[in-house]
Amino acid sequence: MAHADGAILGASIRTLDDDRPRASALAWRDGVLIAVGDDAEVRESVGPRTRVIDGRGMAVVPGLTDSHIHPFWGTRVTRGVDLRSATTLDEVRARLTADPSRGWVLAHSARYEAFGESGLRADAIAEAVGHRPAVIYFFDGHTALASHTALALAEITGAREFDESAEIVVDADGRPTGALLENAAMNLVNAVVPKWTEAQRLDAYASTLRALNRVGLTGAHVMVGTPELLDDVRALEQRGELTLRMVVPMHQEPAIADEEVERRLVLAGEHGRLWRAGTAKFFLDGVLESGTAWLLEPGPEGENAHPFWPSVERYAELVRRFTTAGFSAITHAVGDGAVRGALDAYEAAGPPARGMHRVEHIETLDDADLPRFAALGVASSMQPLHMEGLDDPALPSAWIDGLSAGRYERGFRTGDIASSGAVLALGSDWMVADYDPRVGMAWARLRRTPGQRDRTPYLPAQALSAEQTLRGYTTEPAKVVGDDTGRLRSGLPADITAFAADPVELSPDELPDLPVRLTVVGGEVAHAG
Ligand SMILES: [Zn+2]
Repeated sequence: MAHADGAILGASIRTLDDDRPRASALAWRDGVLIAVGDDAEVRESVGPRTRVIDGRGMAVVPGLTDSHIHPFWGTRVTRGVDLRSATTLDEVRARLTADPSRGWVLAHSARYEAFGESGLRADAIAEAVGHRPAVIYFFDGHTALASHTALALAEITGAREFDESAEIVVDADGRPTGALLENAAMNLVNAVVPKWTEAQRLDAYASTLRALNRVGLTGAHVMVGTPELLDDVRALEQRGELTLRMVVPMHQEPAIADEEVERRLVLAGEHGRLWRAGTAKFFLDGVLESGTAWLLEPGPEGENAHPFWPSVERYAELVRRFTTAGFSAITHAVGDGAVRGALDAYEAAGPPARGMHRVEHIETLDDADLPRFAALGVASSMQPLHMEGLDDPALPSAWIDGLSAGRYERGFRTGDIASSGAVLALGSDWMVADYDPRVGMAWARLRRTPGQRDRTPYLPAQALSAEQTLRGYTTEPAKVVGDDTGRLRSGLPADITAFAADPVELSPDELPDLPVRLTVVGGEVAHAG
């Protein structure tokens, strides 16, 4: 990256700043915008060291932030074979067989439907991996399938009790099938998978961040983190390879000990140039597809009935302690029961010192809780691409199967939430879904697969407008974390995304193919295409 002083002239600029919504030029110095206006005004701010960019044909918007993404965890778990597009067991087996590694076979982004007939069993992949230890991670990050050799290396021989809802799935004889549900169970096999060296890990992180810049992202709300991750982020910034502005959270598992909580509480103010700590993440439920979400009324087979935390009181107590220590809270809540649990905890804890408490996913929402977001000043954070598949009635949907009747009409209520006056930030949840914000924006507006006009949108009345969608990636994420990005105005950070056409005016079906011309983060050009 080079040159912290720059200017763009002759562009079409949407500032999202109410005082001056449109402009043709802007300039920045030392990473901060110093002029936004017409070409003549901005030229006065151009000095001899300024890199001047010809903005003709560029549609400039404030830099896009992904409000829910796992750039580090995602990088670690997307090592190895990509199974995202393998929808049949034969395809899964073919890809595992083709993997040349003689040691561990690692695979990621697997889809449940490929195992619809076989079930999640080590036997299903036994021939494909042979004696090699293998582990397949599913796309949602909540399930792994380990091979027989991997189970043996991890000394997994039967069921165990965990402090949280996690499970080593066993057959009628008590032998592990290979399926491991939720982190506490998956960690047993993760512990024996060979680790990257620090240099390999940082290189892999840096390459993920560059890929995010290429699709126009300048910022990220990271969703999983530990005190150790802060060291990696610091190291990346020192290497000049932290190319996204980010908040990095502390993620608390239910089994966390009090001394570990104390160690984390003092980290609220940790920060670098482009990153800071100060957010605390909790998972209050799992996912509908595997029956681990928490619904107010459980699913038809009694699934999705429980919170992820054995004690919701303990979760609420930690929310309060982290809030008092200067953190804002982030809670994963897919089911309407979990959403209510998070709102209750936030109401009791009071607002954070900076930014907003927030609820992630909100895939189902009870009417009674809809107005509470705006009333309590709690932000909503949703991922439009999680509706993927709901526009095709021919596809089997474990998402719908896990719902009791009537709830289908209460899914992904983005329109209701936005018109309730709540802050609605948008994101991808990569590695769970594609990180490309152009695809996310298209889904937010269409609620069906972009480019497939014959598909039936899922609850089309809940679609967001083009402007609401752009705000979901710019002004709204800034409000959520309490920083001054998300608009283009003198004195604010020079975080800028430029497309080949205005994403607000473009048809949403064409958004995924809209070229990204320029990504500027803190005044540094992170991508030019
Ligand atoms: Zn997530």
